Amino acid sequence: MEIITKISDLRTKIKEWKKEGKTIGFVPTMGFLHEGHASLLKRCREENDIAITSNFVNPTQFGPNEDLEAYPRDFEKDCQLCKNIGIDVVFHPEPSEMYNNPYTYVNIDTLSSTLCGKSRPIHFKGVCTVVTKLFNIVTPDRAYFGEKDAQQLAIIKKMVKDLNFDIEIVGCPIIRENDGLAKSSRNTYLNSEERKAALCLSKAIMKGKEIISHATTPEIVLNEMTKIIENEPLAKIDYISMVGLDDMQPVKEINKDILVAMAVYIGKTRLIDNFIYKV
Ligand code: AMP
Repeated sequence: MEIITKISDLRTKIKEWKKEGKTIGFVPTMGFLHEGHASLLKRCREENDIAITSNFVNPTQFGPNEDLEAYPRDFEKDCQLCKNIGIDVVFHPEPSEMYNNPYTYVNIDTLSSTLCGKSRPIHFKGVCTVVTKLFNIVTPDRAYFGEKDAQQLAIIKKMVKDLNFDIEIVGCPIIRENDGLAKSSRNTYLNSEERKAALCLSKAIMKGKEIISHATTPEIVLNEMTKIIENEPLAKIDYISMVGLDDMQPVKEINKDILVAMAVYIGKTRLIDNFIYKV
């Protein structure tokens, strides 16, 4: 496995592989890898000749009062995991290699106006910009994203379509801890009391999944889920919403494919979880 830090070095390697007719799979990450990331990396390894991942905490997707500095990092451990899975390249650029006084950004309108895009106004502009740059550098045949970040996945799919990237976007299911908590690099911020409290997210998700097929309106589902979160004293709801899977806009009826998504603060830690309901 090679660790590459320079864009030009990665491009040289990729040109050689393309000349040999090899297919390239790509998994973008911000590092501090866990089994959620591992599931994407393994699938990428299985489905492509060459498996590349990026390990880059992208500064442009963090707001001014967010956790960019505190974001957990353990590059050596990440590399060991990637090596065990059989990844060919870990791309690990410095921020200065990726951003040299840029004026160009990629933005997506409607799909980023709700849910996390509403709470974190510059987030998806940063995500779309870095993913576009990484796609242009790696030029993968397939790229793998988690349904854990369902709005991000919908946005990337739409961006790829709108900007004519010749890349297949593969969505991968949410990987959870044994007790139900969705795996996340940010779970590491939780103390033991908060860790227990965080279970209210997956409990609300389970409740929502259980009742959605017989619910007559979105409110019935959202109210039941809200009750579970509000029962937990350490939890504070950022949002709980039901949106169309295609446009991320709130729905009035449960009559099309739907994303039920939430962001909840447990203490100071903001956690997200969701489920998809197909009619
Ligand atoms: P991040 O490092 O948080 O930017 O995540 C990199 C990729 O891993 C994204 O596509 C995430 O959606 C995905 N991911 C993160 N956590 C999970 C999880 N628990 N299950 C599945 N995919 C995940």
